Amino acid sequence: MDKLYAPTTIRRIKEKHNFRLSKSLGQNFLTDGNIVDKIIESCDAGPEDLVLEIGPGMGVLTAEAAKRAGKVVCVEIDRNLIPILKETLSEFSNVEVVNRDILKTDIAQLLCEHGKIGQAQAAGIKVIGNLPYYITTPIIMKLLEEGVPCDSITIMLQKEVAQRIEAAPGSKIYGALSVAVQYYCQVVYVTTVPKEVFLPQPKVDSAVIQLRLRRQKPVELLEEALFFEVIKAGFGQRRKTLLNALTGLRGKNKEEIAQILESAGIASMRRAETLSMEEFAAIANTVASK
Ligand code: SAM
Repeated sequence: MDKLYAPTTIRRIKEKHNFRLSKSLGQNFLTDGNIVDKIIESCDAGPEDLVLEIGPGMGVLTAEAAKRAGKVVCVEIDRNLIPILKETLSEFSNVEVVNRDILKTDIAQLLCEHGKIGQAQAAGIKVIGNLPYYITTPIIMKLLEEGVPCDSITIMLQKEVAQRIEAAPGSKIYGALSVAVQYYCQVVYVTTVPKEVFLPQPKVDSAVIQLRLRRQKPVELLEEALFFEVIKAGFGQRRKTLLNALTGLRGKNKEEIAQILESAGIASMRRAETLSMEEFAAIANTVASK
């Protein structure tokens, strides 16, 4: 079979199946074999591993993952792509295609149902995907918040979102997404991907990042939910001082927040974008212990 990433192959498959690309489903197919290799190599799945792919499209990443992993389960929302995937992945007996919306899927349960490789349970679970841009953040947060038991998440996403995810305190693009993702994972920026290597071409460049799930959380929290409430409130009004932005948190008035910030050793005139994860944790733990 011709290379699945070749634009001529994609066009041929489109014509054969009378398939129309859907802009609203974020269908920008990858046409660069080097980037496919980079994602698959970074994912580093072996015969003991299960790969979960989000949005396989025509199967360009799926086929390469299937050559290395024990099993690949891919979740694709577009039912018109299912017969195409059947054809492009016909040579692999270790691939299962699930026609579902990933946001409406109980991922842990899906992995339980499909997590067997031969007689044994998969040793490791690795997530990959060239994510549909319109739901990149909800997909990442769903995987992290639901505690999907995976080792790593290797994904293509908009470059600007990748940069926000790995941003450090003090940077203009550092925000709630940076702190939340970095709380769960070590973030590795793999490579920038120019918009020219997609069909159709999106408006912006992309990037591949790898999120390596931490075995141990980087900060100790008395109440995890409160930590996220502090982050949300702090960045919800990022131009405000912490004192103003946090007023109202768990019903606390301005004076109470001023006391909390003082006990946590954080100047009340600072803004959320200057706070490290440890400082957010200190505020949350002070609120929790009051
Ligand atoms: N993996 C292919 C590639 O790299 O060429 C396709 C990537 S394309 C950017 C995103 C894919 O995600 C499309 O196939 C699209 O139909 C699928 N998709 C969009 N929304 C989805 C959802 N909610 N659940 C599962 N798949 C979705």
